[in-house]
Amino acid sequence: MDALSPRALFPAPAPADSRPTIGVLALQGDVREHSLALRAAGARPVAVRRAADLGERPGDRLDGIVLPGGESTTMSTLLTGFGMLEPLRALLDAGLPAYGSCAGMILLADRALDLEEGQQTIGGMDVTVRRNAFGRQVDSYEEDLVAPGLGIGPQRPFHAVFIRAPWVESVGPGVEALATTRAGRAGQGPGGPGGRIVAVRQGFLLATSFHPEVGGDHRLHEAFVATVRQRG
Ligand code: GLN
Repeated sequence: MDALSPRALFPAPAPADSRPTIGVLALQGDVREHSLALRAAGARPVAVRRAADLGERPGDRLDGIVLPGGESTTMSTLLTGFGMLEPLRALLDAGLPAYGSCAGMILLADRALDLEEGQQTIGGMDVTVRRNAFGRQVDSYEEDLVAPGLGIGPQRPFHAVFIRAPWVESVGPGVEALATTRAGRAGQGPGGPGGRIVAVRQGFLLATSFHPEVGGDHRLHEAFVATVRQRG
């Protein structure tokens, strides 16, 4: 604080913490990276490990939740085993903002192709996703994306990292496709042509095929935190 600033002479009491509390589902996956990105984006991240951490209603314990990347089959098994699937569905239904990346995108999808037998999703977004659509681990790749709906233009595209990622096969009428792969690029592997939808938004729900929590560009997390504040 500069001594010339009046606040240095008459310090105000510390303001109440106005950061939104955003849970990070911490059963498996890249929890730490999302927590750091959320903090950098102005939120207060908390780990969500059991149903009691969720609260009964949006705003109870959480103002929003992040479903991280990892392995959606494992997450599905743990969510079912820990009795968290139904409480999460109810919270999303009640309007809790959620952001899912990669495996988290699969969890948010109402319909998913190429799941393991018995694998469940939480649902909430009127989309069909295809698990492991870009191929195997060796087909993971990176691409600079634009997402005008998130204010990410060609002057400063978003460097997106795809790791055995899903893509969105189709979206319902209330869903906004925010970003697509460049034509031809995603067709290198067994994935088929480019122009695949890899970021979607529906109301307070946001999902990306890629991992914005790696690489230090926090614009996706900032967009989610802004959504959470808007809901609050
Ligand atoms: N292939 C993983 C799954 O099906 C997702 C990979 C990831 O989240 N990086 O859950």
